[in-house]
Amino acid sequence: MATLIDGKKIAQEIKEELKEKINSLKQEGKSIPGLVTILVGDSPASQLYVNSKSKSCIEIGMHSKIEKLSSNISDSELLDLIEQYNHDNNYHGILVQLPLPNHINEQKVIESIDFKKDVDGFHPVNVGKLVTGNNSFYPCTPYGIVELLKRYKIPTSGRHVVVVGRSNIVGKPVANILVQKKEGANAIVTVCHSAVKDISQFTKSADILIAAIGKPNFINSGMVKEGVVIIDVGINRIEDTTCSKGYRIVGDVDFASVKDKASFITPVPGGVGLMTIAMLLKNTYQAYLNFQSGN
Ligand code: NAP
Repeated sequence: MATLIDGKKIAQEIKEELKEKINSLKQEGKSIPGLVTILVGDSPASQLYVNSKSKSCIEIGMHSKIEKLSSNISDSELLDLIEQYNHDNNYHGILVQLPLPNHINEQKVIESIDFKKDVDGFHPVNVGKLVTGNNSFYPCTPYGIVELLKRYKIPTSGRHVVVVGRSNIVGKPVANILVQKKEGANAIVTVCHSAVKDISQFTKSADILIAAIGKPNFINSGMVKEGVVIIDVGINRIEDTTCSKGYRIVGDVDFASVKDKASFITPVPGGVGLMTIAMLLKNTYQAYLNFQSGN
């Protein structure tokens, strides 16, 4: 049976580390980091995400503010609000919860955030810095993945990482992070997507497989080699009448099928998902440090 990579435990460790640092700032009478989250509209899923981000900030002693805006807000009203927070020194991180309503130009909104406060890591300046190997805010889910590999001492240098999925929020950034000539990276990276006819041809040679597809139980034991490390990013709802909610959450990997073949595996839930908020807090703390040091 593979060793479980415990995202819950690592996320909690990261939060405790940050809490300690923020406590020290308070004891020294210094200002503390702050995150403002902007929510447009009333999607229940987005509300849930925003609330849990805010709750986590408060847990570790950071300032947190949620700006709730009507779904009818115009582009310019939203851009004006972001501009206000770009200049507000109490907030070091600005996060606009995505997706935005269709009438709002998402890319324009991302680009309007001061890249120094872009703790989601989606601003083109941060994307460019990531690709060129300069210090930047890594997007939170890929950052969580590399942090899990690091804390479980899973080597990446010279190993073959296969990423299935090429989204801007998971697949592309994690591939670009792992290919860098850096400690905790330096991997041989293959990226697969829906135009790949036989993905098994690639997944079978993976030392580390990162699945970010959005298809329940897509990867099975016939598609991986003995000893593979599996990072399952997928969060998929499948119907299950035996559960009180009528559904359960599964990953992109068929856990039961691969668990005896893999050496390490992230469970779903309890793996990568819980790391995302922890890394958001870490990015916000870093934005605060950068601000204090004038960077
Ligand atoms: P996405 O934007 O829908 O991208 C999915 C990717 O999978 C695309 O690149 C797509 O290829 C590829 N793909 C789809 N079918 C495929 C197939 N049959 N063979 C090979 N590749 C295929 O999804 P995402 O936003 O990256 O999210 C992926 C999963 O991770 C979802 O389940 C999501 O809920 C989860 N997620 C979790 C977290 C978290 O844990 N915090 C964060 C983000 C996402 P094309 O590009 O060719 O279409």
